[in-house]
This record gives sequence, structure tokens and C-alpha cells, in this order.
Amino acid sequence: MAPALQNVDHFLDEDSQIKMRLLEDSYKLDNENNNTDLKREVNDKMSGDMDFDIVKYEAMEFRAQIRWPDLIVQVSLHCVSIYGFYLMITNQVKFLTTLFVFATIYTSGLGITAGVHRLWSHRAYRARMPLRILLALLFTITGQRDIYTWALDHRVHHKYTETVADPHDINRGFWFAHVGWLVLTPHPAVEDRRIALRKTSLDLLHDPVVKLQKKFFIPLFLLLNVILPVAIPMYFWQETLLNSFVVSFVTRFTITLNIAFCVNSFAHIWGNKPYDRFIRSVENKMVSLAALGEGWHNYHHVFPWDYRTSELGRLNVSTSFIDFFAKIGWAYDLKAATSLMIINKAKRSGDGTLGETEEPDPTSTSDSRNWD
Ligand SMILES: [Zn+2]
Ligand SMILES: [Zn+2]
Repeated sequence: MAPALQNVDHFLDEDSQIKMRLLEDSYKLDNENNNTDLKREVNDKMSGDMDFDIVKYEAMEFRAQIRWPDLIVQVSLHCVSIYGFYLMITNQVKFLTTLFVFATIYTSGLGITAGVHRLWSHRAYRARMPLRILLALLFTITGQRDIYTWALDHRVHHKYTETVADPHDINRGFWFAHVGWLVLTPHPAVEDRRIALRKTSLDLLHDPVVKLQKKFFIPLFLLLNVILPVAIPMYFWQETLLNSFVVSFVTRFTITLNIAFCVNSFAHIWGNKPYDRFIRSVENKMVSLAALGEGWHNYHHVFPWDYRTSELGRLNVSTSFIDFFAKIGWAYDLKAATSLMIINKAKRSGDGTLGETEEPDPTSTSDSRNWD
């Protein structure tokens, strides 16, 4: 069975299990480097790709329209954030407030990286209920829509990367991939694939945590992303309402958004490609530092089901976080590429920069936990 698909069956109903079997078959075919036409057919059946004619969409004349309410929200958040930075730099907010803002950014960020990304979008590991609740709460603090919508869009991004069906297609430029896609009407191909992948992403709504977070997203968003971050500095160290609102809500929210945006923009443009030089996603240290290990994006697009999203030895706070919960039994079935898989892939299609960094042990074929 493909590594990403181990032990997920009991999450799924019969229909989904059939689809997972098809996916499994496609992985088998891939691994055996077998009949690629048959593999494509299996994949197409699974995701409704049989009816999807990307050439038709690529040829279509499309002019994106500005979604004014979204644009106004983004412009307002960024303008107020400039004022928030001014308040922090000139010491007009209490030091504890600034500390609280950055602590919240990095703690809640784990809800994106270890939660909605590696757990829910990619099923790169499994998590027990308490960890899933913790991750859902952390993710909600970031305010980045509900788990279901985020994970679905991310699956579309991976499946149709660098095509018109990619929600933040890097071929449309840095700004489009960074934030433009959130303030413009989506390409019809994106809409088409969002609908198609809803049918193959039933696993998401079978998780009660995802279902509840989706159902109560607005009150949870207001409580966790707005009310509590504003109230805590006011209650515990008497920050003013205005400072707390500007810095602990707007600026914090905007910084978190931009860190996530950087994965879609910077990590698809600037960096090296040790694993696959034919794709645009890259290894970007600065993004990894800011995004808790999510900037090793060339690796991630090659092995999206690997819970580490990077090779062992890279700075990856989110991987350490998952490893910690694996130790106490809340995270399990951690999927990881073997060093042999990584080296073979790098030899086949990398840009030759793998050896310039820490190279994995070529003799090991076991999973990451036995690497060293
Ligand atoms: Zn990407
Ligand atoms: Zn991903």
C-alpha cells in the first residue's frame, strides 16, 4: 500500500474506500514504473478527471474580476498593520503585548503546518482526538478559513500545480500566488476542480473535528482570532483597547497570513531544486524559518505525503512538534520517504544541489525514525 494511505480505511465509507483503493493502485503502478496510461486512467476515474479537459480551460479567454469586499479587507488589514508595526517599533505598546503577538503567531502556526496542512490536507500521519482538537483550535486562531475549505484548496493546488486549475498558480506571477488569488475571481478550471475534489475528499467531513470547526467557524473565528487575542493583553497586563486591537488582532493576523502566503509565492520561485528541477517549487530557508519548516517546498511537492515536508536534518519545527506527540502516542502512522527513495529521485530529476547540503544515508531503506 502507498505510504500515505496506510490505515485510513476506517475513516472512510464504502464509496471512499473504493476511491482509496483506486488511488492505491495508481501508487502501485507508479512505484513499479509500470503502465503510465493505466495509472492516469485510474487517477482520472478517482478524481472525476475523465470529464476534465484542461486544454479547453487553457485555451479559454479569461479575465479575472476584482472581488471588492476581499480586496478591501486585505488592504485594510495591511494598512492597519503598518500602524501596528509603528506602535511596536516605537514602544507605544507594552513589551508583553509584542511578546504575546509573536508567541501566538508561532504557536497558532502549528495549527496550519502540523494541522490543516500535514494532517488534514495530506494525511501524512494520524492524530488522536485530543491532538486533532488542539490543532483545530490553533488553526482557528490563525483565522485562515475553515479546515475543510483550506484542505480542499490545498489538495487542488497539489493535484494541478502550475496549471490554470491551481488556485494560486505561480505562472500568473508572484503577487497573484502571494495574495492576488484571494482577491480575484477564480479561474473556471479552479472552480471545476474544487467541485470535483469535494467528491473525493469525503475523508475530511468524516472527521467530527473538521465538521464541527466548519459548522461553528464564524463564532470560533470571532472568539479565537478576535476576542481572546484582544482581551488577554487588556486583562492580564492592562494594554489599551486600541493597542490590543491593532497589534494583537490586526497585525498578528496579517503577519500570519503573509507567512502562509510566502509558501505559495517565495517557495515557488526563489531557491534550489534538489529533488525535481522540472517543477517550480523550491527549497527556501527563509520561508522555512518563518513558516515553521514549510519552505522546503521542492521536497514537499515531490513527497507530499511525507509528514516531515523535508529531509531529516533540516530545520523543521513542525516536524519536531509531530515527533513529540508521536512520543506520547497522540500522533501515529507517520509516513516518510526512505533515504533511498529520496536519493533516487534526486539523481533522476534533481538540479544536483542535494550533495551541497546534508545528504541522507544511502544505505538506509527504513523510515525516518531509523535514519540515524
Ligand atoms: Zn506549493
Ligand atoms: Zn502541501
